[in-house]
Amino acid sequence: LDQQIVHYPSQIHHRVGRIPLGLKRKGLRIVVTGGAGFVGSHLVDRLIARGDSVIVIDNFFTGRKENLMHQFGNPRFELIRHDVVEPILLEVDQIYHLACPASPVHYKFNPIKTIISFLSLSPSSLTNVAGTLNMLGLAKRVGARFLLTSTSEVYGDPLQHPQKETYWGNVNPIGVRSCYDEGKRVAETLSMDYHRGAGIEVALDNKLHVRIARIFNTYGPRMCIDDGRVVSNFVAQALRKEPLTVYGDGKQTRSFQYVSDLVEGLMRLMEGDHVGPFNLGNPGEFTMLELAKVVQETIDPNAKIEFRPNTEDDPHKRKPDISRAKELLGWEPTVSLRKGLPLMVQDFRQRIFGEQKDTSF
Ligand code: NAD
Ligand code: UDP
Ligand code: UDP
Repeated sequence: LDQQIVHYPSQIHHRVGRIPLGLKRKGLRIVVTGGAGFVGSHLVDRLIARGDSVIVIDNFFTGRKENLMHQFGNPRFELIRHDVVEPILLEVDQIYHLACPASPVHYKFNPIKTIISFLSLSPSSLTNVAGTLNMLGLAKRVGARFLLTSTSEVYGDPLQHPQKETYWGNVNPIGVRSCYDEGKRVAETLSMDYHRGAGIEVALDNKLHVRIARIFNTYGPRMCIDDGRVVSNFVAQALRKEPLTVYGDGKQTRSFQYVSDLVEGLMRLMEGDHVGPFNLGNPGEFTMLELAKVVQETIDPNAKIEFRPNTEDDPHKRKPDISRAKELLGWEPTVSLRKGLPLMVQDFRQRIFGEQKDTSF
């Protein structure tokens, strides 16, 4: 297993020649940061299936080698254990920047590190460098196209419903979720500043090619079983015959997107001509009580519901307006919650009860 992991020097000592923007469709070299995670690993599978070569950068904070093991041995696949807050030197055509803990339980675990994943003091140069900045620096140096996976959390507890990309959001800057919300907002800012070419000479037309996706709640196979997010919690609880834990009164809403729809949206965004930001989410809106009901219908009609106090600053509602993605990317979700949930349940069942493993979702 360890033979698959290549350790790269974390500091850059010199710059190498720029690679022209990859225009041919086959055989691109693509970096996926956070590729051992839930969304990243599905994206990697699609890119490899398309014929591209993929380098995954991951520090395994929430990701797992198991998510990618079926790619080990493939000459077009490489896995690097590396923390994106450290610089890295690679030659690639495209960068999908996903690395970041996504579950509130995980990102609140080490909030300083979460925001540092986007912006930090570099131990080497004492300038504002890290995470997103490093990946933007890498993209700039080699003329690669850069895609940031931002989040619906940039809208905070939204006062506009559904949320359009033009909405600037309602985020508490000093709350417990801020490390994530504000971190992603800064990451968007950095991406746009690099795109606008703030004092930098880049690529052919002097602009860094940047893409921004604002992802709404996504679920599917390979989610961390105990990551604390609501769909993974409910599914694992129902399978283990434990009560479903509904936080607060359960009337808050979210819109749940199946992972294959998201991956399709990310790839269209990367290949398309528009910077964004684009909402990528399923407009089907559910209260947590309605979600619990769908989980009961799918797994166990007798599953009990247990109410727990809600977490601080929990957004009351969330639903994407996806008109922009429909019009400019020709994208919209195709998998409803009732269709997608059973696919995730099948995977969770196998992982929880140790039934025969199938990683080829
Ligand atoms: P995940 O936790 O499964 O994956 C994140 C991956 O990033 C993991 O493999 C983790 O080990 C890696 N990682 C974290 N910090 C790192 C670091 N400093 N250096 C290198 N690797 C690091 O989460 P996910 O659900 O797959 O989310 C992927 C991306 O999509 C994240 O950027 C997240 O913010 C965004 N997003 C996800 C959702 C969702 O519902 N899944 C919603 C909005 C946005
Ligand atoms: N960087 C990197 N890999 C590269 C090029 C840059 O990790 O191939 C990092 C670099 O260490 C820096 C950040 O990206 O911390 C921003 O780079 P940029 O060139 O934009 O800024 P500068 O180094 O000029 O401050
Ligand atoms: N939630 C819940 N039970 C759980 C976990 C979460 O009722 O076991 C609620 C949570 O309070 C929030 C919603 O589900 O209102 C979505 O939470 P999640 O952590 O999945 O995502 P996010 O808050 O980031 O949208």
